[in-house]
Formats: sequence, structure tokens, C-alpha cells
Amino acid sequence: MFSIKNHQLYIDQVEASELAKTYGTPLYVYSENKIRAQLDTIKEAFLNKYPDTHAAFACKAFCTKYMCRLLEKEGFWLDVVSGGELYTAIKSEFPASRIEFNGNNKSDEELIMALDYGINRFVVDNPSELYHLEQLCLDRSTKANVLFRITPAVSANTHDYISTGKKDSKFGIPLDDDILYPLVASAIKSEAIHFLGFHFHVGSQLHEVNTHLSALEVILQLILSTKERFDYTISDFNLGGGFGIKYTDADQPIALSAFIDPIMSRLEEFCNSHGIIRPHVSMEPGRYIVGEAGVQLYTIGSIKQIPDVKTYVSIDGGMTDNVRPGLYGAKYDACIANKADYEKNTLVDISGKCCESTDILIKGLSIPEPQFEDILTVFSTGAYGYSMANNYNKLQIPAVVIVKSDKHQLIVRRQSYEEMIEREI
Ligand code: PLP
Repeated sequence: MFSIKNHQLYIDQVEASELAKTYGTPLYVYSENKIRAQLDTIKEAFLNKYPDTHAAFACKAFCTKYMCRLLEKEGFWLDVVSGGELYTAIKSEFPASRIEFNGNNKSDEELIMALDYGINRFVVDNPSELYHLEQLCLDRSTKANVLFRITPAVSANTHDYISTGKKDSKFGIPLDDDILYPLVASAIKSEAIHFLGFHFHVGSQLHEVNTHLSALEVILQLILSTKERFDYTISDFNLGGGFGIKYTDADQPIALSAFIDPIMSRLEEFCNSHGIIRPHVSMEPGRYIVGEAGVQLYTIGSIKQIPDVKTYVSIDGGMTDNVRPGLYGAKYDACIANKADYEKNTLVDISGKCCESTDILIKGLSIPEPQFEDILTVFSTGAYGYSMANNYNKLQIPAVVIVKSDKHQLIVRRQSYEEMIEREI
């Protein structure tokens, strides 16, 4: 995806500094070829290798009409978690038959919107959601496909804030017998619910499969006990997302097949040994599909040298366009696009322009000597960057550009000041 010519960084065959000049900074840039390459890997390692499977994109990672249309053409599903994400899908004419709805507090309004559009399935997160969904279905004489998101009580080797399968989690239904089984029973017998099976999402940015495998053991027991207690066969299992990517050299991501093969082989072995038909299997990765495909471009502004302490290099964005470093200490790598092969002889902190001391994008970054108006490129910002963007300090949400080979195209306009205040009465 990257190359260097005449000291300039290229994204596919487009010069990064040229994009900065054309569209202004801060700017989100995505390589469509890289996104497609990730989708192809999912096809190869999962969809084409194992029958009776599907893959959804956790669109929270980068929810745009462009992305919905690309996924639609490639045969992928969409995992939405809010009315806003669903609205984006609807406006992109994404087929309802390939939409699933996650989230721990879906409102009646959101459930109705999803029922009206006729989405494929709901991943129910708690007992009250099941109750509300059932009532809404009864009112409409319709039936909803439902999976239960289970809290498998496993800890993931990742940042605490993105470890979601622990017992103490706001997500999912706990394993306690007196909570889970009555819920399974009522879903099975409800005339408004078609109970499909179980779902987990154990955490994000994982570099080994053990957490998924531990959670899988929980699901296998649930498949068995649902059969034994209710004589009911589970038809679906969703293994979530969480496959890690490379943000910095400290990350050693494993191949997608190193997640999928052990999970599928354990599932198949278990089903064979218990005479159970292997359920349909789905996944819902986010960052794996778009994380490494995106970079952010910034223009360097003030440079503050504090003798014997450090150098702060300020850029024209910050925690408004990438909140992850401030939110949970996420680490990134970066370079100066117009000095891409210069010697990295200066140690700096990259600071955003927001009025928060924690608005430091990268600590201890080695770059060539920075100058006013150099273009900083931050790598692997494709997931949870644009989608988490906010207007703190009334900074504008940046534009998004797609690069494809030697072409580039604007897919989201930079927010104007008028747009920023137009809802204010
Ligand atoms: N599924 C669920 C339920 C999630 O909460 C998330 C992330 O928050 C994902 C999938 C996607 O995770 P990732 O982007 O790490 O693949």
C-alpha cells in the first residue's frame, strides 16, 4: 500500500502530500485496494473454506455509505449497533436480509426501525431487550430472528477497555443458570421470536486465539445443554470480531486463519462427537477490514522545544479526529510524508490542538527534523477514527478520501462551520 519516490510517501500510487494539498488537512485517506485485500482474505480463510458461514462488517469501525456499498457488492453482511448506523445502511440501500443488529441498549424506536426495514437478525443483549422485541413483534404480527450475546466470563489479553467477554461487563447475558436458561426457554417458546443461537465478542485487537477458544467451550456447552434441556437444536453461532492488526512494530498480528481454523476444527469435532449438525457460523470483524487501510494526514504547526525535557510537535487535528490515544492509550506510528526517507533524528511528542493535556496523539516518535507545514502521516487509523470523530473545541470533522491505484475520490466532505451549528436553536 505504501511506497516512497523522491522522498515523498505514496499511498497506492498517489502522493500523500498531493492529497493534503488537494483536500486540505486533517484528512482521512483509505486505500480501497487494501480494504478489498482484507475482504479477500476473509473469503479465503473463512467464507470459501467453510460452507454455511457469513461475515458481517462491524460498521462502528467506519460507518459510511461508501463502505456499505462496497460491502454490499462483495457479498458481506453489516453489523449495526444504532439507529444511525442502520439509517446509513438504509440510505445506502443495503439489503435488509444481510443486516444484524447488536448493542446493549437498543431503544424501542431503533427496534421498530429495524423491524420495519425487515433486517435479518437481532443479537439480543439482555432480558429486557428480548421482552421489548417480543412485544413489538406481536404488535406487528411478525417474527424476529434472535441470537443471544453471551458474556462468556473470559479475559482477553488486550487493553482492559476493549476486553468485553469478562464476567463484569456491560455487554451480554451472564451465564448464571437462573438468568440464561429461563431466557432461552422463553425465546424458544415465543411465537414472535425465532431463536437461532449464541453470540460472543470477547474483545478487540487480539493477537492470539485462546480467548476465542475459551469462549467457544462455553458456547459448545450451551449448544449441548439447550439440546438436552429443551430438545432444541441451535442453528447459528456468531464468533464476534477482535482480530488484531498492526498499529506499531510492537504488534505482531497473527493470520486470520490462525483464529478461524482452530475455532472451526474444535466446533466441527465437537458437533461430530455429539451427533449435532454444525451450526451456521458468522463473524463480525471491524478493524481487521479497515484498520490498516486508513491513514490520517495532518499539517504540522507549532513546534515547542522545552530544553532538556522534550519537543512537542503540534498538528491541526487531535483527539477530535482520533480519540483512541486519549481514550485508552492506543499507540500509533507516523512519518513525515514529504521527508519519507530522511533520517529519523528527532524524538518528539505529537500533540493535538484540543484544550486537554491528554490530547497527545503519539509519545516518543522518531521523525526527521520537523518543520512548519510538513505533512504528518499517521498509520493504521482506518478503524474507530472517523467513526469516533467529534466536535470538541468546535473543530470540524475532517473529509474522507478513497485512493484506488492512481485515482482518488472524496467520499465525505469536510464539515463546514455552518453545518456544525445548524442544529443550534
Ligand atoms: N462485534 C461487537 C459486538 C463489538 O462490540 C465490536 C467492537 O467493539 C466488534 C464486533 C468489532 O471489533 P473489532 O473492530 O475489534 O473487530
